[in-house]
Amino acid sequence: MCGIVGYIGGNEALPILIEGLKRLEYRGYDSAGVAILGDNLEVIKTQGRIKDLEEKLKNVKLKGTIGLGHTRWATHGAPNDINAHPHYSESKNIVVVHNGIIENYLDLKKMLIKEGHTFRSDTDTEVIAYLIEDFYEGDLLQAVKKAVNMLEGSFALGVMSRDDKTRFIAVRKDSPLIVGLGKGENFIASDIPAILNHTKDVIILENGDIAEIKRDTVNLYNLKLEPIKRNIQRINWSVEDAKKGGFKHFMLKEIFEEPRVIKDAMRGRVRDGKIEIPDLALSKDFLKNVNRVYFVACGTAYHAGVVGRYATEKFLLLPAEAEVASEFRYRDPVIDKNTLVFVVSQSGETADTLAALRLAKKKGAYTIGIVNVVGSSVSRETHDTVYVNAGPEIAVASTKAYVAQVETILLVILYLAKLSGKLGRETEKKYADAFLKLPELAQEILGQSDKIAQFAANMKTIEETFFIGRNLDYALSLEGALKLKEISYVHAEGYPAGELKHGPLALVTSRSLIIAVDTYTPLREKTLSNIKEVKARNGKVLSIASEGYEKIKDVADAVFYVPKTLDELSPVISVIPLQLFAYYMAEARGLDIDKPRNLAKSVTVE
Ligand code: GLU
Repeated sequence: MCGIVGYIGGNEALPILIEGLKRLEYRGYDSAGVAILGDNLEVIKTQGRIKDLEEKLKNVKLKGTIGLGHTRWATHGAPNDINAHPHYSESKNIVVVHNGIIENYLDLKKMLIKEGHTFRSDTDTEVIAYLIEDFYEGDLLQAVKKAVNMLEGSFALGVMSRDDKTRFIAVRKDSPLIVGLGKGENFIASDIPAILNHTKDVIILENGDIAEIKRDTVNLYNLKLEPIKRNIQRINWSVEDAKKGGFKHFMLKEIFEEPRVIKDAMRGRVRDGKIEIPDLALSKDFLKNVNRVYFVACGTAYHAGVVGRYATEKFLLLPAEAEVASEFRYRDPVIDKNTLVFVVSQSGETADTLAALRLAKKKGAYTIGIVNVVGSSVSRETHDTVYVNAGPEIAVASTKAYVAQVETILLVILYLAKLSGKLGRETEKKYADAFLKLPELAQEILGQSDKIAQFAANMKTIEETFFIGRNLDYALSLEGALKLKEISYVHAEGYPAGELKHGPLALVTSRSLIIAVDTYTPLREKTLSNIKEVKARNGKVLSIASEGYEKIKDVADAVFYVPKTLDELSPVISVIPLQLFAYYMAEARGLDIDKPRNLAKSVTVE
């Protein structure tokens, strides 16, 4: 999910590709590679950074005026040299660079293996190159069209053939891709900064667009290869602005990526009314004996684990705990071979989380990693790993990774419930259908972000906040409070709504702001009573409630409605207004949002 650059023109392609890849470096990646079409079709690729690629390139002469470059953020297969892109077809006549996830790659791979093909890598991408070669009858464009019509999932592609030095082909579906228009040269890139040095005229490809990129022309087609037209846009952003996609901060950009992130976390997992986790090896027999479940993590990932605890009790009917890793690792947690431990981490490198994982394994537990970074330490050391596929997260305050973690945990728990016979066919379908609607609902929330911005601007001088909620809304309150602390430096406490009167209520005055999360329908009346307790002490209340709960309007000072979904899935989208609130508060207070004081992205020290 990282970066593609492509070039065709009158200049040597290699330096242009390397420069473009460097300009995408801020997105973070694990491997890089280039393919250059000159006398031959050469591929050089490596695990690591662009400078490692440059090192490798020192010993080879790659000459040619057409080429493709890639930085990889692995989703399928460890980050190593073989899995790095570009990928050759079997005969090495075609190369492909790919951003995204091919959901049906296992089916396609099986089909191709049956036909006698042998694969080199573990990626989902390689099947694309093989398919294109299978369809190739002298016209690359036709072959690409036939192949992409067989693909399910998300892809931005660059495709080049040894036999065709006049063009390369680009395709876009659900992964970003732009075309840059130059004079006697043209480009493709995942993101604008990569080409901003060469041209300001771009075409933003839309889903289902196929682009034929030649030196002097760019032709656009739909998936049936009928010609189409797209507007040319002139980009007047600076490189810095372009990196953030026009957003003021990476954090906001990442929040606005959440509809896409929600889609990606369920790719290959929710289909035809079914929930499947193909990456999970855990056996049905082991599941029968599980008698205790832990979620171990730090910070935001811990809050995703709190959601997991509720879901485990509800769907797996098992005792469950969410534990902060730095505490867990120094306790004597009751663990044996029938314990299932989920280890949740964005980076997969958090020191305390790793230590907790090692302790759990030593005591005999079966461990499942819920991780964003493929090939990270957690994913290597757990028995099973389910990737959340959120893509690189740059802002220190985690937002899209949390959304993806919560969603992935819910999917895994529902799948395990099905595996152990605790989830009926009808219920599975009900949840599967509801998952598919979440991206749209997230988009709806983002469409109202100005309401939150306005509220935050009015509240910017507040110094004391409480986030309250019950059940899953309590899990969300913890995360909402953490986000606010992290980036706006406002004191915030997440509290179970029912506990307020056992202490914190003493602090509530007209100078306090209470964010009451009230989306969990079975308990919403209870939380409403707690809001009334706050109002009686003159506290200000912003409520995050689910659509249709009209009553709350008469009690809270302001209400932000989130669209209705099933109660258990609500955290995936209801966290968005909380993240936006933290963001806009920090912005109103003029703070350095992407790099909050005293904090680091991945905490690899104890
Ligand atoms: N799914 C592909 C892989 O794992 C592409 C990842 C990317 O977008 O960088 O290699």
